[in-house]
Amino acid sequence: MIELRDVTKHYPGGVRALDGVSLRVAAGELVAIAGPSGSGKSTMLHVLGTLDRPTSGRVRIAGHDVGRLPDAKLSALRAAAVGFVFQHFHLAAGTRAIDNVADGLLYTGLRAAVRRRRAAAALERVGLGHRLDHEPHELSGGERQRVAIARAVAGEPALLLADEPTGALDSASGAGVMALLRELHAAGTTVVVITHDREIAAGLPRRVRMRDGRIVGDSAAAALAEAGR
Ligand code: ADP
Repeated sequence: MIELRDVTKHYPGGVRALDGVSLRVAAGELVAIAGPSGSGKSTMLHVLGTLDRPTSGRVRIAGHDVGRLPDAKLSALRAAAVGFVFQHFHLAAGTRAIDNVADGLLYTGLRAAVRRRRAAAALERVGLGHRLDHEPHELSGGERQRVAIARAVAGEPALLLADEPTGALDSASGAGVMALLRELHAAGTTVVVITHDREIAAGLPRRVRMRDGRIVGDSAAAALAEAGR
């Protein structure tokens, strides 16, 4: 699903946000990318989500070589294949939950009635079938993040990228959101969770640790080495 080879991302001023990163994530994995602030996690998320192109190196997402796709094709790939969940939800204010989710399907070209039906189903899936007509300010933080997750998965993307999805939530709501991400993973979605929270990372099946723009630990690689010993 994801293949990064020797990926770098440099910013002006000599910042090496990614400094030679290679990573493979198979379809259906649930992976935590952990590390301290400034270690390159967000940059990694942007590259994985095709929001940003690397300075050098190769990026393949869902079978596509990102470096070779023109911008329009890249946007189409992103819309169809990648769902995003952010720390601060990024919902449209004054817009009902069902419309927040349905608007995420505009790229599909489906009729409005079909988009709304799919949106309702996605909200049912995250346990918010009874909150379709609520606006973000009428929902709790945990519920807002569930709406954001419904929006991210309504189009059934192959890859779900979550950037500190529990960072703005109390621990009970955060646990609920993590349980939901696990359910989506169990149903077949590839899920990558960016977190600086060690406890959250520890609860996920594969943990990749970053520091100074490099991968300094990968529990999958460690397990392989152990098995080969
Ligand atoms: P994290 O998400 O782990 O906190 P980031 O990926 O945001 O780390 O940042 C990695 C490094 O790149 C940091 O040193 C940060 O200051 C730098 N950086 C991130 N974005 C930019 C940018 N747009 N311009 C310049 N430097 C940046």
